Amino acid sequence: MNKKLLAQFKKTLTQKKASITNKLNSKKINENEIETGGDEIDTATQSTEREMQFELGGIDTRMMQDIDNALAKIEKNTFGKCESCGEDIAQARLEAIPWGRYCKKCQEEAEKNSK
Ligand SMILES: [Zn+2]
Repeated sequence: MNKKLLAQFKKTLTQKKASITNKLNSKKINENEIETGGDEIDTATQSTEREMQFELGGIDTRMMQDIDNALAKIEKNTFGKCESCGEDIAQARLEAIPWGRYCKKCQEEAEKNSK
C-alpha cells in the first residue's frame, strides 16, 4: 500500500477515534444528569435507559479497540493485511471499514463459525 493512501486511512481512523471519544464523553455527562434527576422520574425507565447507554457504549468501546489496533498496524506497516490469513484486504473494503481486521473470506468464515 502506498504512503499517501496509508496517510489517508490514518487520518480517517484518527478522526473516527476522536468522534467516538467525544460521544463517550458526552454520554458520561448524560449519565450524571440522570443521577441527579430527582425523585419524580420513574426509576424503572431510568434504569432501562441507562442499560441501553451501556450497551451502546460497549459497541463504541469495541470499535475504539479496533481503531487502535488498526492505527498500531499502520505503525507496524502491516495495515491492510488480513490478521487471519495474511492476504491483502481489498481496498474497497478498507475504505468502507478501515478498522476491519480480516479479509472478506476470513470474516465470512468467522461469522459462519459464530452462528
Ligand atoms: Zn483472510
